[in-house]
Parts: sequence; C-alpha cells; structure tokens
Amino acid sequence: MTNKKHRYKPVLPEVQAVVEAHGRSPEAVLEVVRDLQALPQGLTSEVLADAARALGVPGHRTYGVATFYSLISLQPREHVLHVCDSPACWLKHASGDPLAGFKDVLPPGWTVERSSCLGMCDHAPAALADDVQVPLVSPQAVEDITHAQPQNLSAAYRRPRDGETRAILADIDLIDPDDLQSARQAGVYDGLRRALSLSPEQVRAEVEAAGLQGRGGAGFPTARKWGFVAQAEGDPKYVICNADESEPLVFKDRVLMDTNPHLLLEGLAVAAYACGAREGWIYIRGEYEQQAQRLERAIAQAEAAHVLGEQIFGSDFSFKVHVHRGAGAYICGEETALIESLEGKRGEPRLRPPYPPQYGFRGKPTAVNNVETLAAAAVILRRGADWWRGLSNYKTPGTKLYMLLGHVRNPGLFEAPFGLTLRQLIDDFGGGMQPGSEFKFALCGGAAGSIVDESLLDVPLDYGSARQGISLGAGAFLVADQSVSVVAFLRELLRFFSAESCGKCTPCRVGTRRAFDILQRMAAGDAQPDDPDTLCALAENLEAASFCGLGQSVAIPMFSAMTHFMQEFASRAGKERIEACDERQNRH
Ligand code: SF4
Repeated sequence: MTNKKHRYKPVLPEVQAVVEAHGRSPEAVLEVVRDLQALPQGLTSEVLADAARALGVPGHRTYGVATFYSLISLQPREHVLHVCDSPACWLKHASGDPLAGFKDVLPPGWTVERSSCLGMCDHAPAALADDVQVPLVSPQAVEDITHAQPQNLSAAYRRPRDGETRAILADIDLIDPDDLQSARQAGVYDGLRRALSLSPEQVRAEVEAAGLQGRGGAGFPTARKWGFVAQAEGDPKYVICNADESEPLVFKDRVLMDTNPHLLLEGLAVAAYACGAREGWIYIRGEYEQQAQRLERAIAQAEAAHVLGEQIFGSDFSFKVHVHRGAGAYICGEETALIESLEGKRGEPRLRPPYPPQYGFRGKPTAVNNVETLAAAAVILRRGADWWRGLSNYKTPGTKLYMLLGHVRNPGLFEAPFGLTLRQLIDDFGGGMQPGSEFKFALCGGAAGSIVDESLLDVPLDYGSARQGISLGAGAFLVADQSVSVVAFLRELLRFFSAESCGKCTPCRVGTRRAFDILQRMAAGDAQPDDPDTLCALAENLEAASFCGLGQSVAIPMFSAMTHFMQEFASRAGKERIEACDERQNRH
C-alpha cells in the first residue's frame, strides 16, 4: 500500500471568489452556479468541479444543479430572450412556433429560448429579456425588447373592478410598494403587532376560527399546519413562503408582491410566531427578479424600522427573512422539491411521509405557505376572524384571488368570495365573451386543473368542487371559444408537463412525453387508430404510478378533456368513442 498523496490543482480564483461571496455554504450551490454562468468560459466541467471542491460538496452536485434548472445553461450566453410558450401565450401567438419570428431579428449577442411559463399570463404573449419582464412581446418590437426597462406589470389592479370584495387587495391603491410608510399608514404590520400581544396558540386559534385554507391549490387548513410545526419535535423550526408560482395561468402572487410586498412579509412573520420559528425564507421563482429585488428592499426597510429583525415592536420575538431565487423549474412549487432546492440540490420531490412539518428544511419542522395564504393571515390578524367570516355568506369563508384569461372581454385578476360559478366569473367579472366568441371550454384551477364544457358553468367553485368535475385550484381560469381545438390545447398542456417533469420517476418522465407525442400527431391530423385509447391508458398510469403530485395531476386535464370532448378526440382516429375512457367511467 502506498502513502501517495493526491495533489489537486488550485481552484480557479474566479470560482473561489464566487464561492466566497456566498459564504462557502453548500446550500448555496444554486446561487453559485447561477453566478458562475457569467464567466467567459461558461460552466465548463473544470468550473463545476472546482466549485464543488470549494463548496465541499460531491462533484455531481454542481453538475446536477447546473443541468436541472432552465435558467442555467452550460454554454456561455451574453443575453437571453426567454419567450413564453405556456398555453396562455400559445393562445396569443399567431404561428405554432413562438421563437420563429425572433431568431432572425435579434441583435448579435442575444440568444432566444422557449420558456415553459413566465408568470405573466395577463400580459401574453410575454418574454423575459435577461431579467426584465416584457409584456406583449413581438418580433416587430425587438429594439424595445432588448432595451426593455423594468415596469410594474400589476399597476392595472390597483383599483377594483365592479363587483369585487377586497380584503387582501384592500388599500393597494394607497400603497407605494417601495415605501414602508405608506404600507404602515394603510395598516400593514398592525396584524403582526396584534399577534405579538397574543400567545402563539391564540394566533393559531384566530386563524383557525377564520377558517383559512391554503391558497396554493390544495386548501389545507393553515392553522392546523402551523400547529403541526409548533408541536413537532426538533429545533430550530422554519417557515418558508412558496413564491415559486410557475404554473401556467397563475400570476396572483406576482401581483401581491408587486403591489404590497410588506403584507407578505407581515404574514410570514405571523406564521413564524405561530410556529415558533425565528428564521424564514421566501423561495421566489427565478423569473421574478423584479419582485425579488422589491422584496429585498422591503425587508431592509422593515428591519430598519424594527417591524422585522431583532425584537420586533420591542417584544422578545425576533425574525430574520431571506430571499432565495429559484432558477426555472415548475416542480419547485412542490413543497419538498422546493426544500431540496433551498438546500442546494436538484429540485426533486422527497418521499412523503415524513411531511415538512415534521421533517422539512435541514431536517427540521418547517411550514411552507403560499404568498396569498400569508397575506390573508396578516389581514385576519389585523381585522379579526369574525370580520373575515363576514366577508361572504358562503360556507368557505373569506375571499380568493381569481385570474381570468382567454376569450373574455376583460381578462385579469380580481378578488371575490368563494362559491362563484364559472358563468359568474365570465359574465359578472369578465364582461362576457369577446365579440364573435362563443364559450367552448375552460381550463379551471390552473394547468393541472379540469377542462370543462358548458355543463359545469353553474357549479359553485370551492375546494370541494373538484369532486363535481370543476377545479378551483389556485383560482385561475382560461376560457376558450369555438376557434380552439381541445386536442391542440391539451397538446400544449402536455408540452408544458413533459418539459417540466423532473425525470425522477418513469411514469411521469416517459408518460408525459408519450402523451405529448400522441397529441402532436392527433392535432396534426395524423392519428393512429389506437391513439385515443393509449392516451387514456397513459393518463391512468400517470394518476396511479407517478411519484408526486405533478405527474398525478396531469391526468386531471387529460381525463376531463377526453370525457367532455370525447367525440373530438375519437374522431381524429376515425372512431366514435374512446373505449378505455368508457371503461374507466364504468369502473368509477
Ligand atoms: Fe418528477 Fe415523478 Fe414528480 Fe414527475 S411525478 S415531477 S418525474 S417525481
């Protein structure tokens, strides 16, 4: 046996400098890799190996992260135009290829890439020019795009539309999002002050009395989640705000962060107090750089004014908030994938149980809450559970942010109680269908929601309406008229899901790709006789065998589209019915 010592060459100084800037923390792999992209040589294997050594992590970690997230590229790029390819933007693109018009007109130094979704569905077709969000993008305005300056994309929502009930969005027309004083004058942080005069148990009891359910889509009772964390063994405990909204159709959290960032910070501090946490993170999607910077400004202002940070309002409660940027991965909206990403790994979901309230960030009890949920909690603490319940007579208390897109006269975002029907959303809030448009179908809830026909227009929407075939989900609704093929629309959804499958399990990685391929040829008029039945079998597989909710929920739009529009799917293959779907319905 020899005693030979291995000698490594020194880490590249430019790599070492980036690693040092991030405190040499193994949890900072994602931030380090993102910053290293700016090196002239790009993310070469030498750069990635040196970064791993300097961070003290296995060599595969930096490469694994660099190849997982869509905003990271191994090749050096000077400027990137990310053109959105979500179903909402697809509906607005004249041609099938959203990149087509850009390739020839972009100036030297610019690269164009597809993006699964940019969170700007209300400004479709959208793009991201490096970090700048660009609404209503078109190749004819390429000069404006490459010199685009940040703008507030949510200014149109400062004033309510007719019929709105505003609680979470109340007073945003009085608030300058970059000015703490204006937020405080509107009452922001009064809820936190009140919470600190109560015990954590009393805070949870107030939120429970309000009946607040998580607004990310699942509707889990918020106070119960906080109670699990508070009562779990393990210290320290953490709170995380899930601001990774990467689901096509959904942009409400962007609006909240654009218009009232301090309300989110207040809600996160209330959650921390209720859970017994002293440190929290806002995990924000990488495409929301403008919103991330706004949050960082807001945190600095709040800490300087002692409404966050050490001994808040002179109490014993201290709370430190960090902003963490994702780098382009829809799956990181799944809470365990988000936690993995926050720990500096690929954003692949964990096996559950244990759930994050028992085993979360760094293996400690962790509450993960959506932006809208936290904003609602702050308002509830300010004005009380009785006031929140009094906002409507419907069985689900409080209000919800709704997003309406597609062929309606007045698309956009608004706040209203639960229990509205799709018909009310379209007619009362959306101003009805556009001239010449007739309702054909709607995608309800979000990309992983149900595709419905007119038979479900009058079902009251809440977290239970999915059992009747129409999802509320995150509150997003895309309405399509007679000009849209359901087969082509479902193809676009599967394009998204197959691009965003994390690849960890075969049913989802392979199933979404096969379903996309089948829909591609069906939409092109090239269907094979078995295609509709194979599509149904793939959906059954996705639902039954996928590792996490992403793959399982892809089956929802697939089954609902094939059920409500069976003729449209079957006829592409020269058939009358989809037998596999009929059999499934008989079984259920
Ligand atoms: Fe990844 Fe499987 Fe979840 Fe799809 S279902 S996102 S492949 S873990």
